[in-house]
Amino acid sequence: MRIGMPHMGNLYIPFKALFQRLDIDYVIPPVNNRRTLSLGVRYSPEGLCIPFKLTLGNLIEAAELGADTLLMAGGSGICRLGYYAKTQEQILRDLGYDFEMIQLGVSEQKLFGLLKIIKRLSNYAPWFKIISAFRFGLAKLNALDKVERVVQKVRPVERIKGTANRLFTKAIDAIDTAGDYDTLKKVQVDYVNQLNQIDKDTRYEPLIVGITGEFYVVLEPFSNLDVEIELGKLGVEVRRATFVSEWTKFSLFLNPLGMNEKARIHKAAHPYLKRDVGGDGWESVGEKVLHAKEYDGIIHLAPFTCMPEIVAQNIMSTTKENIPVLTILCDEQMAKPGMLTRLEAFVDLLERKRRVRNKARQQVTV
Ligand code: SF4
Repeated sequence: MRIGMPHMGNLYIPFKALFQRLDIDYVIPPVNNRRTLSLGVRYSPEGLCIPFKLTLGNLIEAAELGADTLLMAGGSGICRLGYYAKTQEQILRDLGYDFEMIQLGVSEQKLFGLLKIIKRLSNYAPWFKIISAFRFGLAKLNALDKVERVVQKVRPVERIKGTANRLFTKAIDAIDTAGDYDTLKKVQVDYVNQLNQIDKDTRYEPLIVGITGEFYVVLEPFSNLDVEIELGKLGVEVRRATFVSEWTKFSLFLNPLGMNEKARIHKAAHPYLKRDVGGDGWESVGEKVLHAKEYDGIIHLAPFTCMPEIVAQNIMSTTKENIPVLTILCDEQMAKPGMLTRLEAFVDLLERKRRVRNKARQQVTV
């Protein structure tokens, strides 16, 4: 059995750790690139969202490399995600690949459902081995996200642009190769220290921009053309609530115990949107309301044709919380120069607003 699955950010690293510890043959397709996208676009039904196209491209590339068991996220929510695995399975069969498709409905199957799938993939390894491998995968996931949070803070204030990104790339490799908990901890502490020691402009106050929107495009840099890196180059500090480690913690462990991390955000959205509209649309509205006073602006990432985010986009422009929102529609037509022009214009606008605000405050003080 050779396992293949789509990419989403650095998620392949915790999965690789998990599968290695269980001696599962894991075929990692190339990280998202132009070929992945063009394969996905060529074989997807027209009008489907970019997460479908990129994940289809990944599955095709995994099958080309010999994967015969494909894992794909699924769900029973309101949007098209619930159809992804079935549709992609059919497309791959039509292309002549012979494989088994396994749908991972983490939110529905919860922790035990996921562990049962892993048990099967591992050819019924003992439970203690599965739990131990799973814990190590989670530890890598947490380490990746912890380092990334520091990178987000350093990017806008570093004196030599690109230093934090270079360290982050090295940290990702080191976390990937760490073979035990001690090494992993050491790597995490070491890179956080190195990031904190980068030469920074301590007098510069970066603009704060929140990133919200659909889960996949928020977390997959290829699909959003590295929007966070580009904002960092423009001296903007990015804040984002969506991290896979947080999502895993709640979906697998805390939600079943009755803890709902989204209750606060749904409450904030409630005056404008009272129900789930699929995907992350409800949360996008809530994030704008919740953080209106804390952020200078919000970048709303939405896959083109994504109904939940279209609903959110239209509501976000009507809320009384007055904070600029730039919606970026992500699809295969999006090009970097166009996106950079929009980011620069947005940052100019935020800077002007901040100057006006500061001036008004000074006048009140005088
Ligand atoms: S939330 Fe939007 S982009 Fe994501 S699967 Fe659903 S429709 Fe597609």
